[in-house]
Amino acid sequence: MAERITGHTELIGLMAYPIRHSSSPAMHNEAFATLGLDYAYLAFEVDNSTLEDAIKGLRALKMVGSNVSMPNKTVVGQYLDELSPAAEMCGAVNTIVNDNGKLIGHITDGIGFMQALKDNDIDVIGKKMTICGAGGAATAIEIQAALDGVKEISIFNIHDKFWDNAVETVKKINEKTECKATLYDLDDKEKLKEEMDSSYLFVNGTGVGMKPLEDLSVVPDKSFFRPELIVVDVPYSPLETKMRKMAKEAGCKTMNGLGMMLFQGAAAFKLWTGKEMPIDHMKEVLN
Ligand code: NAD
Repeated sequence: MAERITGHTELIGLMAYPIRHSSSPAMHNEAFATLGLDYAYLAFEVDNSTLEDAIKGLRALKMVGSNVSMPNKTVVGQYLDELSPAAEMCGAVNTIVNDNGKLIGHITDGIGFMQALKDNDIDVIGKKMTICGAGGAATAIEIQAALDGVKEISIFNIHDKFWDNAVETVKKINEKTECKATLYDLDDKEKLKEEMDSSYLFVNGTGVGMKPLEDLSVVPDKSFFRPELIVVDVPYSPLETKMRKMAKEAGCKTMNGLGMMLFQGAAAFKLWTGKEMPIDHMKEVLN
């Protein structure tokens, strides 16, 4: 690293708190080194109380850009000059691009999800999907899927603090895209089965299956899965959730959350550098 950094090296940040556990710095710096690009990616402990100053710093230092994670994703938009259509609709930003002094906010989580599907030869465009979740990850997926041309999305969530967010998401999708979105109560398992039965793709976009909810599943049992249904998990720790294990046993093709994580990073990498992340190499390094 000491040999690689020069007076010309450009800086890209990651602003979040807590953030020291993140794998993004290792991922991006490995990709820069592999392609011989003169950038460095560093994580900064920034929360809502220091976010405005951090963005001023990004401008003053002429940084190339930054990733933004919790608790800043839904707050940072007000300090930027422009938002991508998806970031505007999600009300969240995970990537900032400094375009000659103009700061543009993007959300690449949904782009990453859609790209991970493509990478697994899953084509949901023009088809119906059912998804559980109304938090940050699920909302980004739902909005991007609708923008990209998914025909119909059935969204399920429990009646918690995310419910109103789901109501908003459904409204925005129905008003601003060609996709038809409908919201259902996740406690209505009969409806869940009905919607899964008429879907090409089923996605768990909740925290269920991930620590500390690793013993739970949004789908009660194997009878909900037919072999033709493609089943995708957004959580990735542990990689094998109870839900995906059941789906596999029922004969379904499945995908874990790692692809979405890799491709959301690749989309940000492309926005900053104009180059494709070396995906095959990154898959080897991440595994
Ligand atoms: P969030 O806190 O914004 O949303 C949590 C969601 O889980 C909400 O829809 C909530 O209603 C639901 N939920 C919580 N407890 C539940 C329960 N007991 N039963 C049913 N639903 C419940 O979280 P998020 O940022 O959207 O993340 C959701 C999951 O996706 C997490 O596991 C996170 O680690 C993962 N994630 C993965 C990626 C990726 O790249 N693969 C990216 C972001 C998040």
